[in-house]
Amino acid sequence: MKKHNFSAGPCILPQEVFKEASQAILDFNDSGLSILEISHRSPDFVAVMDEAQALALELLGLKGKGYKALFLQGGASMQFLMVAYNLLEEKAAYLNTGTWSTKAIKEAKLFGEIEEVASSKDKNFNYIPKSYSIPDEVDYFHCTSNNTIFGTQMKEFPSTASPLVCDMSSDIFSRELDFSKFDLIYAGAQKNMGPAGTTLVVVKEDILGKVSREIPSMMSYSTHIGKDSMFNTPAVYAVYVSMLTLRWIKANGGIKAMEERNQKKAELIYNEIDRNPLFKGFAANEDRSVMNATFNLVDESHKDTFDQMWKGAGVNGLNGHRSVGGYRASMYNALPIESVQVVVDLMKELEKKI
Ligand code: PMP
Repeated sequence: MKKHNFSAGPCILPQEVFKEASQAILDFNDSGLSILEISHRSPDFVAVMDEAQALALELLGLKGKGYKALFLQGGASMQFLMVAYNLLEEKAAYLNTGTWSTKAIKEAKLFGEIEEVASSKDKNFNYIPKSYSIPDEVDYFHCTSNNTIFGTQMKEFPSTASPLVCDMSSDIFSRELDFSKFDLIYAGAQKNMGPAGTTLVVVKEDILGKVSREIPSMMSYSTHIGKDSMFNTPAVYAVYVSMLTLRWIKANGGIKAMEERNQKKAELIYNEIDRNPLFKGFAANEDRSVMNATFNLVDESHKDTFDQMWKGAGVNGLNGHRSVGGYRASMYNALPIESVQVVVDLMKELEKKI
């Protein structure tokens, strides 16, 4: 039986994608070859890479606007340093909203001065700082749109004089934004876009080439742009499955439709968290993430009972991250609302039991 998968990432992907992706392992495009045994330079795979890059730009509304989409390796964690390597000459500004921002700041400090414009560390990152100012003269401003671990999400982004860089690993393709406000967006594939192993980077070309340091080829966005993400062997299968998922997003109404579905799922679970006296939400209400709902039991003594209930009902991945405790329901694009209803029903059942 298929589980209700609330895993934070790698996570649920559309069933149709799993089916098509598994078929391509046996026979890709009726070629008599597996996708795993063909050259990344073969026309069949070059077409996959081209389509994946084009779909990413199209879905984000960035086609023909001076952006390039790249599929790189090394995870979003590699981007923590690549961003600084390519863009940081003297000083950059960072908003610290959690574990991932903290890690991005640590890497960037190896390349120049970092001004942390605000941090929500004082409250274990359960909110998004609002009133901060970004110095005009910085090389770029970096933020994390969705905090996968703490369950907070930026609802607004500042207008900046300098390039706006955003780690969108855990909410890319989940909601409509004016993506042209951003100069560089990066996201590990393994939430809304595909399996682990590739990272999408969408970069506005005119922000590159401005630092004086020499950048090693593999670390340079310009290298990867020049070679269409084929400077070295790309993560062929991860890019293929990402391409299938992007096709699925497009065929199902694009980001707009994803956002509507995601809003409904989030409302369903947050309404129950707020209604049910046994539970309390972790994140500040106005900053609650639509992707990752974090919540705790008011009385931890019910933990064993509730854990047994959801595990017995075929629910997977509801445990909170170790730094928050409690529960985290990750509700990425492919998660059906029926799965959220199962958890909500279990929360109600627990209330009746106690
Ligand atoms: N940023 C965010 C917002 C994340 O959620 C994660 C991983 N969950 C990362 C960065 C790190 O990604 P990776 O493991 O691909 O390096």
